[in-house]
Amino acid sequence: MNYNKKTIEDIDVTGKKILMRVDFNVPRDKATGAITDDRRIAETVPTIRYLLDRNAALILCSHMGRPKGQRKEELSLLPVAARLSKLLGAGHEVTFCSDIVGEEAKAKAAALKPGDVMLLENIRFLPGEEANDPELARELASMAELYVNDAFGTAHRAHASTAGVAKYLPAVSGLLLARELKALGGVLTNPAHPFVVILGGAKVSDKLGVINNLLDKADTLLIGGGMAYTFLRAAGFGIGSSLCEEDRLEYAGEMMKKAASLGKRILLPIDHICAESLEEGASPVTIPGETIPEGLMGLDIGPKTGELFTKCIAEAKTVLWNGPMGVFEKTAFSAGTWDVARAMADNGGVTVVGGGDTAAAAERFGYAARMSHVSTGGGASLELLEGLELPGVACLQDKE
Ligand code: AMP
Repeated sequence: MNYNKKTIEDIDVTGKKILMRVDFNVPRDKATGAITDDRRIAETVPTIRYLLDRNAALILCSHMGRPKGQRKEELSLLPVAARLSKLLGAGHEVTFCSDIVGEEAKAKAAALKPGDVMLLENIRFLPGEEANDPELARELASMAELYVNDAFGTAHRAHASTAGVAKYLPAVSGLLLARELKALGGVLTNPAHPFVVILGGAKVSDKLGVINNLLDKADTLLIGGGMAYTFLRAAGFGIGSSLCEEDRLEYAGEMMKKAASLGKRILLPIDHICAESLEEGASPVTIPGETIPEGLMGLDIGPKTGELFTKCIAEAKTVLWNGPMGVFEKTAFSAGTWDVARAMADNGGVTVVGGGDTAAAAERFGYAARMSHVSTGGGASLELLEGLELPGVACLQDKE
């Protein structure tokens, strides 16, 4: 995939009427509907400011949750308009349009003046969005003269507002999407070596494509988290009652063979933090060595593995991390994930954290600001790391 896409800095945006896809799918309090974390809104502010400073008029479009093509008031974007107004500061009142592509929306879009910002209602209230309906894409496009995609979190979806619309308007990326492509695309295409990739999280099956794509590019793969036990079992070790994907044992074995034939290293845990179960009150024990005794499950990498991984990360010039090393949500099983996050924060090279749970862990432990890049997209960053084409990126104009 070509990651080198035109951005709003490469074209003249002055005075333009712009349809901009953003990812304002922010977490909300179930009872009150209040926004509990506005990071996704804040991340788009630099792009919005850049465009407003150049007298553009903005029509913002986003989804929220999964309304499945129906209007659901609890998934309205109305509260987001107020929060964005606050983040943009005085002089930038964001108007909210409860219509999406009807007469009302079109009239309001036509009346926008330079410097105005309007947020459309949740685009997934319309069934045509997820169906990538060309008619909906054309209706959206008819309100503007330029399309800007700044929604990395939904760039792996071929929907009307993320990809379809680009057939009808010149299309470029916003500053947030450009930053994601530069960081993630950079480690894929031109990593400084040694290049260390750390993979964890619950399942091997979620990371098959990533392992396959990165084994050729990385020098060392560090594997922790629930997925490590399938690899340990494939290597012949006992893993007690730890997570194991029987149907992936063969693949894990093949990957280890492939690594050896390419002269790459795959490092697995050499000790573990285990417990009898994940139930409250089950006491954690440290198990030295690779083998986990019957009756115990591995729930975090052990201290020796933490040291080993820390050393590898310290020697790397590029580090990419996706997936926690253990059940980091519980303090007793979070040390390994801390170790990796700390080692990356201390590394002076390029450090890139995939989105989702891994970004949440880096944030929670206070290390996010010391990474080169923390991705805002979980599914999108995984697909990109698998080497797949993201429809929301592929549809944008290439740089010359
Ligand atoms: P993923 O979404 O695949 O990145 O997986 C993240 C989830 O994996 C987190 O919620 C962790 O609690 C869980 N996880 C990590 N290590 C383990 C483990 N050893 N056993 C069970 N779950 C794990």
